[in-house]
This record gives sequence, structure tokens and C-alpha cells, in this order.
Amino acid sequence: MAETIFAKIIRKEIPADIVFENETVLAFKDINPQAPVHVLIIPKITEIESAKDLSTEKHSKLLGELFNAANEIAKKLGVFESGFRLVINSGKDSGQEVPHLHIHLLGGRKLTWPPG
Ligand code: 5GP
Repeated sequence: MAETIFAKIIRKEIPADIVFENETVLAFKDINPQAPVHVLIIPKITEIESAKDLSTEKHSKLLGELFNAANEIAKKLGVFESGFRLVINSGKDSGQEVPHLHIHLLGGRKLTWPPG
């Protein structure tokens, strides 16, 4: 699997505005924010390219940790009560650009539906 920009962010080889970090999860502000709050939440392991690669056997604990982190970040950044959106793009038609599983956390404004 090819190295991604997120692997470099995990290793702190390139800068990112980190809002949450623990042993398994890293979260940082999106470089091209689509809302006042736009954070990317990623696992530190690099072998999961997209949601298509997830399995209950291997990843149920990690998935819990990613969603717990999302709730903590939403609280920290003040959108937990007002509401926020979690998005996982997976594959070509979704617009996924970076092949390292990531959850977009968006909030801080009224979000429209359906997405484009
Ligand atoms: P995707 O389209 O793959 O779901 O989302 C990838 C996201 O990563 C995009 O929203 C893009 O703005 C963000 N991104 C790409 N490169 C970087 C980077 O070097 N730093 C940060 N903070 N975000 C990035």
C-alpha cells in the first residue's frame, strides 16, 4: 500500500493542527475546511485504506475508539450540542482522495442535505 500524506502527519514529519491524540487515534483540522469545524479523525495504523477494508473481527475496538474520539472532539470544539456530521468517503465515486481511513467531522454551521 502506498504511503499517504496522513502517514507523514502521524509521524509528525509534516505539520498539522492536531486537536486530539491518543495511542490509536489522531485528529487534526482539515487543510481545506468545508465548515467552521472540519476535523479529520484517523487511526494511527496505516493499513486501512477505506471503510471497505473494515471487519468486525479485526476492527470493532478501533471503530469504537474512532467514534469516541469524534464525540470528545465535538465537545471540545463546541458542536456536540448544536450538532455535527460524520462522513466517511469510501472509493472513487465518493470523492475519497486519501487512501487512509478517515472520518470527517463537520459542524459549526447548518449543514445541508443531500450532499453533492
Ligand atoms: P477525502 O476526500 O479523501 O475524504 O478527504 C481527504 C481530506 O484530506 C480533504 O478534505 C483534504 O482537504 C484533506 N487533506 C489533504 N491533504 C491534507 C494535509 O496535508 N493536511 C490536512 N490537514 N488535510 C489534508
